[in-house]
Amino acid sequence: MSVDGGDSKKNVKKTPNDFIFGKVIGEGSYSTVYLAKEVDSSTEYAIKVLEKRHIMRERKTQYVMREKEVLMKLNHPFFIRLFFTFQDTDRLYFVLSYARRGELLDYIHRLSSFDEPCTKWYTAEIVAALEYLHSKGIIHRDLKPENILLNDEMHIQITDFGSAKILKDVKGEEEAPVSGRTTSFVGTAQYVSPEILTSKKAYYSSDLWALGCIVYQLMSGLPPFRGGHEYQIFQKITKLEYEFPDGFSVVAQDLVEKLLVLDPEQRLGCEEMGGFEKLKSHPFYEGIDFEHIHEQKPPPLIPFLPATSTNPENIWSNYRQPGFDDARMVEIITQTVITDDERKKRLDDQKQTNKYHKFVENNLILKQGFVDKRKGLFARKRMLLLTEGPHLYYVDPVNQVLKGQIPWSEELRPEAKNFKTFFVHTPNRTYYLEDRESRSEEWVAKISEVWQQYFGNRNNKK
Ligand code: ATP
Repeated sequence: MSVDGGDSKKNVKKTPNDFIFGKVIGEGSYSTVYLAKEVDSSTEYAIKVLEKRHIMRERKTQYVMREKEVLMKLNHPFFIRLFFTFQDTDRLYFVLSYARRGELLDYIHRLSSFDEPCTKWYTAEIVAALEYLHSKGIIHRDLKPENILLNDEMHIQITDFGSAKILKDVKGEEEAPVSGRTTSFVGTAQYVSPEILTSKKAYYSSDLWALGCIVYQLMSGLPPFRGGHEYQIFQKITKLEYEFPDGFSVVAQDLVEKLLVLDPEQRLGCEEMGGFEKLKSHPFYEGIDFEHIHEQKPPPLIPFLPATSTNPENIWSNYRQPGFDDARMVEIITQTVITDDERKKRLDDQKQTNKYHKFVENNLILKQGFVDKRKGLFARKRMLLLTEGPHLYYVDPVNQVLKGQIPWSEELRPEAKNFKTFFVHTPNRTYYLEDRESRSEEWVAKISEVWQQYFGNRNNKK
């Protein structure tokens, strides 16, 4: 990929007066990032502003300098670009390319997990990015979905080089000094490689370990090594203790198993194992044109639920039983209008007899039942409570704790996937729920009915 050597790092010294500062787009521990527009060109940038006093007080000078040094070396479409730096008495300014679509992590949260074409695509972009980064003698050391931003075209823009290591020795083995971070390891607990934990040595392939964690997470919804405390996570990493959930793609599993290898010199993609060419020719990446991937259009990120043994695919399309239509909806609505007296009676009864009453803020429960709330390929048992208001509360039935609510709005839309599974689409997230009794259509009907009651009339008036 010939992407090196652009001309946009101009030698002209900028000042804050060259930019109009707009909204805050993010806050880091030592910085605030603003959306800004260059006055002359109207080009939008993300400007990271660092308070000098704060940096000195927190002893983060080395961290900030390293980030700048690395960014200045990079010129590739899959990395955030540093265009200008300048300072005034109190602050440092980094003028960066603006990743308009935010963090990859948000998309994982929104969609729970990616389908196979998207996992393949986005991790292929990471592979192309790492090949370039390592060719420059740089190890990222903190690769994770939070540090992978997305630009307007939905291509990745890797950022956060505060923990990066620039190697003089291109072989890639060097003492990794303890970074300026608060913890005694470099990186984030869930993605940190075993060699960084045990020998404090960073290898290029430490980034390939993180890649393995990301492939696993995009496919399944959660990172492979999880635990309540960092210590538990570290234990699992050093023992290579993780499992593939039901429904994980076989070819993706093979790739993950070749990346999550304890010995850093045995990981697919490291020099000892044949380098990036071997990684790029893994069957998972069949059909990917790594040379031109940055010029191609990424596949759309759409809600997807992989088939698992408890969630068979495609039976819905054969479902012919007369069920829910406009006529049935009207029928249900006219049946279910609740008078004030009736509400009072039912609420009194609910108070006395329903142990979930305490979670629903005195709202009348219209439907309740156990569901499995899915995150990617993982599921948790919850009591789902649809109430007047409207609200959709979900409670951990074992610990009797309210875990949250699915936010209601006019945009909320339920959708049956099959007998068992239904989606509740909201603007920020799609919730994946499985009815244990295989009556997902009843949930969809009831939620639609409530929607109609609260928002339907408004639409009719438009
Ligand atoms: P820390 O310094 O604590 O590790 P961080 O690396 O997230 O945090 P910043 O790099 O200052 O801190 O970024 C703060 C937030 O701003 C991030 O959440 C990120 O999503 C957003 N952000 C940073 N750079 C850009 C950019 N170039 N385009 C769009 N958003 C950005």
